[in-house]
Amino acid sequence: MTRPAFWIIITLFFPALLAAHEVDVKLLSTMKVQVVSVSASRGNYMLLLDGKRQHDSLAAKVFQLLVINDSLEVRIQGDTLGRFHSFMLKPLADTCIFKIKPVKPLSGTRMYDGQLTITVRETYLHCRNEVELESYVCGVVESESGGQGGAEFYKVQAILCRTYALAQLGRHITEGFDVCDGVHCQVYRSRTSHPEITAAAENTAGLVLVDKGLTLITAAFHSNCGGQTCNSEDVWGGSLPYLRGRSDSFCQNMPHARWERRIAKDDWLNGLAQRYKYPIEDSAACKAACNMRQNTRANYFSYGGVRIAYKNLRTDWQLKSAYFTVTEAGDSVVIRGRGYGHGVGMCQEGAIHMARKGFEYRYILTYYYKGVDIVHISRLAFFKEEEQE
Ligand SMILES: [Zn+2]
Ligand SMILES: [Zn+2]
Repeated sequence: MTRPAFWIIITLFFPALLAAHEVDVKLLSTMKVQVVSVSASRGNYMLLLDGKRQHDSLAAKVFQLLVINDSLEVRIQGDTLGRFHSFMLKPLADTCIFKIKPVKPLSGTRMYDGQLTITVRETYLHCRNEVELESYVCGVVESESGGQGGAEFYKVQAILCRTYALAQLGRHITEGFDVCDGVHCQVYRSRTSHPEITAAAENTAGLVLVDKGLTLITAAFHSNCGGQTCNSEDVWGGSLPYLRGRSDSFCQNMPHARWERRIAKDDWLNGLAQRYKYPIEDSAACKAACNMRQNTRANYFSYGGVRIAYKNLRTDWQLKSAYFTVTEAGDSVVIRGRGYGHGVGMCQEGAIHMARKGFEYRYILTYYYKGVDIVHISRLAFFKEEEQE
């Protein structure tokens, strides 16, 4: 690639990275928020309304922001400051923390590092957090692991979340931010206050997973594989050399290893007939459909000429996984399943168990991602170019 073309791509797709590895995250992305309250929780902030700096002492107050038509009404403890198009809290130190609480609709308080910008888009509040990559990674590790992992597991999860974030940065570029805070990108519910997570991110700072071509991998993970992970193409269609199915003995006794669900037999069979034209008028076909077997993971249930993907049955019935057997029980079928999630990439509960048994994060990552390397982001092509400037 010629240098001008390279810089156009970097500037278009990784604008935040050029500014000290920052990520621009849309907060509250799964909600349609009309009113929020905002306050500084720690440290001093500069308040900017429509880009104009306000008196510093204002930044210590609790603000309420409301959408009025296409503008933002800013109130401080009951008094209206006026209507604006943008509200920004700019941190004056690295240790600053702000709080944001959706009021309409009502939701819990969240706390974040970095800068907060609020504007109005399509009659709702559009809240963005510009935050250092490592701080974002810590928040995502806590949100995605539930804060229950242990020091070595957090290192694993930090490398995955960092890799995933950097690989996904262009996803929302046309909307003016890098990533959203929902499951679409990675869940980022809050900053972390968990010292083990902060230490894990610091101890693995800048480390990412790459394939043999030094390209960031698709760092997929799930809760529990049920004893066998999946090939990527069996779940999503695209084959990736490092997302290969493998057996996993580490997650067997973990919380999401097994599940059970009972469904009325008529509902089960009628669903198959409607969605897949399954021949339920044939009694042998009914018997087969009420007694599906997966001794090891399979992609399809087949009977006669009909082939039904287990992953589709998982979606139809919102099952925890596609790895299950079906057993007839009177007027019902009992679905007994293994694992939780899509099954591709790392099994979180297996990794947690491995970490507890003393396996090191490098070994755990290469156990679940075949043939990958762990490198510092400075070795990736676009960072190298940036440093040489
Ligand atoms: Zn997203
Ligand atoms: Zn597993």
